[in-house]
Amino acid sequence: MKHRISFLLLTGIFLLCAGCAAYGAVQEEPASLQFFSMDTVMTVNAYGPSGEDGVQAARDAVNRLDGLLSRTDPDSQISQLNAHAGDGTAVPVDPDTAELLSFAQSVSQLLPGDFDVTIAPVMDAWGFTTEARHVPSAEELSAALALVDGSQLEVDADNATARLLQSGMEVDLGAVAKGFAAGKAEEALREAGVERATIDLGGNVTVIGTRPDGNPWRVAVKDPQNTESYLCVLELEDVTLSTSGGYERYFEEDGVRYHHIIDPKTGYPADSGLQSVTVVTANHVLADALSTALFVAGEEEAIDFWRGREDIELVLCTDDNRVVVTEGLEEVFQLYDPDGGYTYEIARR
Ligand code: ADP
Ligand code: MG
Repeated sequence: MKHRISFLLLTGIFLLCAGCAAYGAVQEEPASLQFFSMDTVMTVNAYGPSGEDGVQAARDAVNRLDGLLSRTDPDSQISQLNAHAGDGTAVPVDPDTAELLSFAQSVSQLLPGDFDVTIAPVMDAWGFTTEARHVPSAEELSAALALVDGSQLEVDADNATARLLQSGMEVDLGAVAKGFAAGKAEEALREAGVERATIDLGGNVTVIGTRPDGNPWRVAVKDPQNTESYLCVLELEDVTLSTSGGYERYFEEDGVRYHHIIDPKTGYPADSGLQSVTVVTANHVLADALSTALFVAGEEEAIDFWRGREDIELVLCTDDNRVVVTEGLEEVFQLYDPDGGYTYEIARR
């Protein structure tokens, strides 16, 4: 869960972040808290009298999960699970950890070949975990890929234990942890009595209620080719957006760019014809998981998947600079810059 994210905040008017941004001309000043967790900069803004309590409760909820789920923290539950891989131990975990592991497995089953929570050895082979990023040798990569198999993760949700069946296997929750945390942050805000807020967990943006003036939030999705600018703006209420793209974390070697979303079928960075995928849904962790998985899947499989469900909408940015918007977003979508080099089309059911 390492992230290198440029971050800029112009309080009250623009909130710019990794994949998306929420902004609006807001009169009332929110309680605002910016903090570093899950290897990224996070910002929570909450309006109303409970705002101050709300943002602190949201931060605490996120930090608690970071402590449980981080693969780079040797004391985390995920590190303990990984350390016991193959030795038969069913590692006791928090019910939240068990829930997230089970959820991640269900996504592997929904989109087999696109998503695998045991991708960690491949992330390590590419050096994405350590900063020593490099193209692995064929032998290194096939040894790592042999350890990727989500079906060898056993989760016992009733007893809150988890076990990895093969020695050397490791779980990496980088594709889902921020989305899961966003859900808990929203819960914390609502429990504190907050009815209007924005939660920005680096690429995962949640808007709660409407803006204080009663209008929808205006959420901007980053331009994958120029992360200082935007691809599109969406007018939304009570929803989460997650964006995944090859532009977030990458390195270059011999003039080739290698990014951090891996195709589990090959062990190489996914090259499915997409520059970014944005998923819009009420379910935070689903948004996060699917933005990663559908980025691997590519346009055709992503649109087919969308046609089979009622609970998600998509914005796909293709390598040939088309923005494919699913019809549920038709009324709330606009290109950020109509002369910015992108065209858009609506995908229909
Ligand atoms: P970000 O965390 O940069 O916002 P994502 O949500 O798309 O982006 O998650 C990318 C992370 O997910 C990677 O850093 C890695 O930890 C993990 N990952 C990469 N490829 C896969 C995959 N195919 N399935 C599951 N997890 C993946
Ligand atoms: Mg994700």
